[in-house]
Amino acid sequence: MGENAGRRRPGPLAGLLVAVVVAAGCMGGGLDQGEPEQPRPRQSGQPASPGADATRAEGTTSVAEFKQDFSDAVGIAQRYWAAQFRASGKQFAPIRRVVPYTRSGEVSCGGQGLPRNNAVYCSAGDFIAYDVNWSVGAFRQVGDAFLFYLLGHEYAHGVQVRLGIRYNFTIQQELQADCMAGAYIGDNVRSGTLTLAEGDLDEFREGLLAVGDDPDQPWFAEGSHGTAEQRSDSFFRGYENSLDACGLG
Ligand SMILES: [Zn+2]
Repeated sequence: MGENAGRRRPGPLAGLLVAVVVAAGCMGGGLDQGEPEQPRPRQSGQPASPGADATRAEGTTSVAEFKQDFSDAVGIAQRYWAAQFRASGKQFAPIRRVVPYTRSGEVSCGGQGLPRNNAVYCSAGDFIAYDVNWSVGAFRQVGDAFLFYLLGHEYAHGVQVRLGIRYNFTIQQELQADCMAGAYIGDNVRSGTLTLAEGDLDEFREGLLAVGDDPDQPWFAEGSHGTAEQRSDSFFRGYENSLDACGLG
């Protein structure tokens, strides 16, 4: 986001297809591992609003820069959801921690080590964890919007827990999280907090189309996230129409 106009690459999405399907797995089990402990405000520096210098040329984003941008996206998500909860007269506690990791098993959720090439919200500890090397790779392939989508989607799972939303099928939980991620990005674009460069969304749409479930996968299967079209539709419904489109009730 920011100064990316005109940047178009033929991103090699093939590798991503596998990677993101795994990541989007979000450890559905994380949603099943007991009540989150009482969240406490996360310690963080002043979250910066991504401006012109928050965006790097494709392929040059370092792990350190990605972590910083990710933490900025977390700050924006916290402020966004705090405002939404406030508007509904509800208390909001930010997700406790956001943990980058690089090795399999380095971070555990409910006693289960997290694999590489993944990003999850873990309800057992009320934290988001992501494989930073995998995330940087996907970011380089899909583009700027991916970072906000990844964080927005995982943060949405934390918000679902806070709202007591629990669907019978993972696909419902996942498509709603896609919609909420879309609303988080769209509302922040509309308020001027985020700037999307021309092409960011097209790039992102292409990326999203690569992360759908296999067409042969039954929609009711544990771990189903939705077809590429369903995921894309959900995201853009939220992006364009805000949270009203996401059925939060
Ligand atoms: Zn998910």
